[in-house]
Amino acid sequence: MTTALVCGAGGFIGGHLVKKLKREGYWVRGVDLKPHEFAPSQADEFLLLDLRDPQNCRQALTLQNGGTFDEVYQLAADMGGMGFISVAECEVLHNNALINLHMAHTAAEMGVPRYFFSSSVCVYRDMQPDEPPLAEEDAIPANPDNEYGWEKLYAERVTMAYGRRYGMTVRIARFENCYGPEGAWTGGREKAPAAICRKVAEVEDGGAIPVWGDGTAMRVFTYVDDLVDGIYRLMHSDLEGPVNLGGEERVTVAELVQTVIEVSGKRIKVQYVPGPVGVQARNFSKARIQSLGWEPKVSLREGIARTYRWIEAQVRQSRRG
Ligand code: NAD
Repeated sequence: MTTALVCGAGGFIGGHLVKKLKREGYWVRGVDLKPHEFAPSQADEFLLLDLRDPQNCRQALTLQNGGTFDEVYQLAADMGGMGFISVAECEVLHNNALINLHMAHTAAEMGVPRYFFSSSVCVYRDMQPDEPPLAEEDAIPANPDNEYGWEKLYAERVTMAYGRRYGMTVRIARFENCYGPEGAWTGGREKAPAAICRKVAEVEDGGAIPVWGDGTAMRVFTYVDDLVDGIYRLMHSDLEGPVNLGGEERVTVAELVQTVIEVSGKRIKVQYVPGPVGVQARNFSKARIQSLGWEPKVSLREGIARTYRWIEAQVRQSRRG
């Protein structure tokens, strides 16, 4: 049986990745600082470990027979939406650099054959709405909009360097905004799709919701099942270097908000208010990931409908206490 370690298995994408690997017939160990908040983990084994500590990385990577894993998926990170990233820049730089340095170093030293690192399109500079797509190599010369993006760029290089030195096969995806059920939806770490779903679910029919910015920022939102499928294909491909992973359906924040409102069936007014919105536009080439036959199967409307239903149920449950 192929063995896989999923770091960050108590989180949103890591939790969904564990399910995917189990469906593919793997033996899976999940590791995180905390258990999954929204669903019992489907991992065969789940260890609570702080991966900023190299001893804990070694423990995470050691199987009971003393060997190590066939595949390691590194998704653990101190992260959240723009609200979190803008106030926690020291924590983001410090904690994520430690996790990524110690995990890549320890995995390479222990002889892990295949290692996946979850990067982000936050490594790219800001763009104008009508600019042609940027390809992976256009991340350099670098000018990320925030410290989270700078750390991801550094960690990509760390991971590739350890891969070269120790002969470890490294695969890197730069995720675009990912959304879906069983992710943070309240508490400050939630990202835009979840925050908007929550606000719409909480407000009375006919009420108003505040949305940060002016609605013109342009993004691609990728449903979590599609993203996890992309991670799996990339891990088993021969694509070297970072690969953009996200769909082609570019929408403004105003269009995202409108989709949520339509799905909810409520009549709601939108008040745009000042807040941390991040870059103005995103547009990346998907040629590399598409070369693996990957394309998203879930439209924004369908994905938002599934996410809204889940968040609406969470809101109802939290009101019942
Ligand atoms: P998440 O916050 O839901 O999951 C990350 C998990 O890492 C959390 O459960 C957290 O407890 C864990 N973690 C944090 N510090 C740790 C530590 N010291 N030791 C062990 N575990 C620790 O985030 P997510 O959305 O599932 O993101 C997964 C990965 O994908 C991250 O690396 C993130 O940067 C990257 N990414 C996500 C998106 C997105 O849209 N969600 C976009 C680009 C990149």
